[in-house]
Amino acid sequence: MKGKSLQKNISEIKGVGPKIKEELKRIGINYIQDALFLLPKKYENRTKLTSIKDLTPGEAFQFEGEILESKTIFPGRRSFMARISDGTGFLQIRLFYFSFSQAKAFKVGLHVRGYGVVRTNGSLLQVFHPSYKIFASSKRPALDNTLTPIYSLGSTKLSQFRTRNIIKECLKEIDELNLNEKEIDSIFSHQKISSLSVKDALLKIHSPSIEDDITKINSYKHEAQERLIVEELATNLIGIKIASEKINKLKAKQMPISIEEVKSFKENLPFKLTNAQERTIKEISDDISLTKPMRRLVQGDVGSGKTVVAAVSMYISAKNKTQSVLLCPTEVLAEQHFKNFSAWFKNSNIKIELLTGKMPISKRRDIYQDLEDGVIDILIGTHAVFQDKVKIKNLGLVVVDEQQRFGVKQRFDLVKKSSDKIIPHQLFMTATPIPRTLAMTIFADLETSKIDELPPGRKPVETLIYSDKKKDEIVKRLETVCKSGNQVFWLCTMIEESENLDVQAADEAKEWIKENTNDLNIGLVHSKLSKDQRDKAIENFRSGKTDVLVCTTVIEVGMDVPNASLMVIENAERLGLSQLHQLRGRVGRKADLDAYCVLIYHGEIGEIAKARLEAMKSTNDGFEISEIDMKLRGTGEILGTKQSGGIELKISDLSRDAHLIKKAEKLVEALNQKDEEISKILLDRWLGDKQNLIIAQ
Ligand code: ADP
Ligand code: MG
Repeated sequence: MKGKSLQKNISEIKGVGPKIKEELKRIGINYIQDALFLLPKKYENRTKLTSIKDLTPGEAFQFEGEILESKTIFPGRRSFMARISDGTGFLQIRLFYFSFSQAKAFKVGLHVRGYGVVRTNGSLLQVFHPSYKIFASSKRPALDNTLTPIYSLGSTKLSQFRTRNIIKECLKEIDELNLNEKEIDSIFSHQKISSLSVKDALLKIHSPSIEDDITKINSYKHEAQERLIVEELATNLIGIKIASEKINKLKAKQMPISIEEVKSFKENLPFKLTNAQERTIKEISDDISLTKPMRRLVQGDVGSGKTVVAAVSMYISAKNKTQSVLLCPTEVLAEQHFKNFSAWFKNSNIKIELLTGKMPISKRRDIYQDLEDGVIDILIGTHAVFQDKVKIKNLGLVVVDEQQRFGVKQRFDLVKKSSDKIIPHQLFMTATPIPRTLAMTIFADLETSKIDELPPGRKPVETLIYSDKKKDEIVKRLETVCKSGNQVFWLCTMIEESENLDVQAADEAKEWIKENTNDLNIGLVHSKLSKDQRDKAIENFRSGKTDVLVCTTVIEVGMDVPNASLMVIENAERLGLSQLHQLRGRVGRKADLDAYCVLIYHGEIGEIAKARLEAMKSTNDGFEISEIDMKLRGTGEILGTKQSGGIELKISDLSRDAHLIKKAEKLVEALNQKDEEISKILLDRWLGDKQNLIIAQ
């Protein structure tokens, strides 16, 4: 295979020892080629310094100064402060999460160069958690001479600095790797898609020059980025084609069902299904009555009632003597579904089980056995289901809730669980709107159903917009809601790209609410709490023991606490509209209960930001919101489209780059007339080891 021989192991690169190699592997980098295709998520301009007197709050700058004072601050939450000056003014560096050695490194008299968003506290200029370097004045480092790429490193221990150096080393090998596949490049230029070679595009992307427009490059509109995006999309289309061909050869279990049987199940439900739910169920039951494996995506706005649709489908599977799994992204969600299913299936002899990572091992072992013996009809579980120990005798149907939260590899592992030769039908559920044109192009064989109707009696959530200067009024509203027996979510969202600051904000919000209200029980959830503590806080909120739940990271998707009627979101202007809509959907889940969503913005906000928040006020329709978002920002935010229903994309974003799909199709067509080897090169380049997962599409 031509493609493979081009791949040198990443461990051949200077500075990549066994430890680094492991870390790189965690983000999918095994070969030099993989590193070259780790494309930056954004760029910073560190080619110049800004004098402290010229720093303006709200923007990111590179600054430098001598350390005049440095200390750890008590009481209250421990924090670190260093005061620096460059002779034009003073600036405070603040760290809220730091180690002893980190604090110690800030020695008075040394110099520090940092990069971060500047803020003010009264007349004081501050930067929280900047990236920084400390040095002696005699050893002043040179300024960068290209824009600085920032890479997505996930939870690895790699630093940006080290990653940049590794990639720099890899770039030296670029000729040797013969990435400059002449044929592919010439198709690009022949089809008038791009005149840049892949080599030049990569060089540009990893080290754009100062002359490059940073705004353009940060919005992925640079020609080097477009060259690569088109190539990636085209590869994806090729992959989908191969997948469809493979899938068409496979067989699933036929699951016929009589109308009476479904009816008797529905009669046991505590509510009448909506027309949209009925229609979706019909589409699913038609699909699974055939041997062709179903692959259907159910799209339905938050609160539209997707769970019960899954339940009916799994009922049909059980009636056909096959087992089914409902896969959930979080434990809270799995438990919630299990509770609902247990009630809905109460009068049947269908056996339902829950499997999560926190269950005692003895209980889990029993479940493994029962799954293998085919005793369990319906399994609701989290990632725990992926374990090798889990073998399912007769897996006929897999349902993935909040599908955008799972990767291809995971779904693939699940599909492979069946010991039988058949492959399971697959049902995906999501509240993330994906425009139809996009879905059709990218999801190829995937069928879609839409639940475009909410259960009766739901009142639209009323949305209010407040400046953070009026938090007093909001807290009054909060108190009224709690006193009338309902509950409140209070969400502290990302202030900057720092989880630590979020945690800090949540702590403060909790204290502040406590000080400004009487007799309320306030729970707290953030990433620095242990899993047990988090679960407990969520459980207390669910059961009504706490009135308010203050939380950071997006509260668990899908969370259903019908008694919650107020959602407060701080720094709402920083979130995407679809995300705001998802969050707002956590309230207003009970018939005839008035629900509110308060969007708080910070400081002065621009026209577009204002228009976006106003849009939230004007509609409660998720699809409409995603369209408005696209119009206002030029790029929409469609969560989950980083995965095009299958393959994970490295650089492309299907909503942002939708306009490039035509070009990608053109490229595929031109490639089709060439030999298969070229496709193979592209698949190696963009999918690497994931190619064998293609079938999980
Ligand atoms: P989502 O589509 O966001 O996953 P859920 O399945 O969690 O929504 O349903 C939201 C709430 O609506 C749940 O409390 C559920 O029991 C309820 N529900 C679902 N379908 C109906 C219906 N047809 N009539 C009334 N309530 C319903
Ligand atoms: Mg749901």
